[in-house]
Amino acid sequence: MWISLTLLCCASAPERPVWSAEEVRGGAALPAVVRTLADPALDGREEGSPGSAIVQRMLVDQLRACGVQPAGEQGFRQAIRTGRGTNLLGRVAGVGQDPQVIVVSAHYDHQDLGWRTHPGAQDNAAAVGALLQVGCALAEAPAERDVILAFWDAEEPPTFLTSQMGSRYWHAHPTVALDRVGAVVVLDLLGGGLWDGYGTTFALGAETSPQLWAAAEATPTTALHRVQQASLSLVEEMVVGPSMVWSDYEVFRAHRIPVLFLTDGQNDRYHTPRDTSEALDYDKLGAEARWLEALVRRLGAGPSIRWSPAPRPEHDRAAVRTLLTEALAAPETAVWGATARGALQASLQELQTGQGSTRDVRAAAQRLMCWAGPRASVFTCGLL
Ligand SMILES: [Zn+2]
Repeated sequence: MWISLTLLCCASAPERPVWSAEEVRGGAALPAVVRTLADPALDGREEGSPGSAIVQRMLVDQLRACGVQPAGEQGFRQAIRTGRGTNLLGRVAGVGQDPQVIVVSAHYDHQDLGWRTHPGAQDNAAAVGALLQVGCALAEAPAERDVILAFWDAEEPPTFLTSQMGSRYWHAHPTVALDRVGAVVVLDLLGGGLWDGYGTTFALGAETSPQLWAAAEATPTTALHRVQQASLSLVEEMVVGPSMVWSDYEVFRAHRIPVLFLTDGQNDRYHTPRDTSEALDYDKLGAEARWLEALVRRLGAGPSIRWSPAPRPEHDRAAVRTLLTEALAAPETAVWGATARGALQASLQELQTGQGSTRDVRAAAQRLMCWAGPRASVFTCGLL
């Protein structure tokens, strides 16, 4: 059930539904919220587009219905004056006295990639739905510390890593003092798996702060869902080609703010017209949203979060070994052909014998990412 605000409002009737706070915070509305955000009629939610404007109104109305306070420049909105985008920012005041703030964020834009519609369900409607759920839950029962909910615009190319990118713009024009920000959690590509049915979420970047690492480690998961921590360097320091950055965490880490990047990784639907709401795993997404809420409460109540990066090579090696073992145990699907299996098996053997440098561990992770991703081929993955 959803309540249409059309009857309650006059001049700016929303084109999309608004659910009750209870339906959103309890998770009952999550699949419908995500389906609405990923509606092909919104044509990819590219910044500055009519579809984006509809989504903005929907998110603002929903945040308001849940009792989240505005934390933008004009209400919930922050116009990105270097470009066409609009960030949306909400705040839930903490019940404690500590000045640190936790920022939890997801980009809501996707791309208009031409004549075929790219609905951007896993990228990134699913995470936006999870963020709304957590925001509504916090508004009902706040954490100890203040929490800022940030819905970034303009994450996707061609504005990625430019001054028009929502997260970079907010860092340059913050709506809360940056020295109060203890950590930034970035959600990108939830509700899916590296391969169909894979229940793991990757939590990358907590090597920037021991308090963040400990909180992620201590937050319980369920039988349905596992969270695997690892270092960002595994997926950023490419063994072939230039280093990569994958999402909105970049500007915060560059300015010594601890980050946690929660992602299911790029599967073969990434940035294709097949990234639809029908293809999502809503049980996993629900588990991810609940885990995120528990993590934010833990971060909100724990010790002060400090920037203190520490490499964790042995942890990374074990994480990649687990990942390869699970990939090889996965049912024979279209994703893994004989060539891929052979490559993954060779990687695993190398790591099992305790051999292999840090570079080999990265190569193994990146080989798997290649075979799981949208550009898998004997030629491209064979280069790794
Ligand atoms: Zn994305």
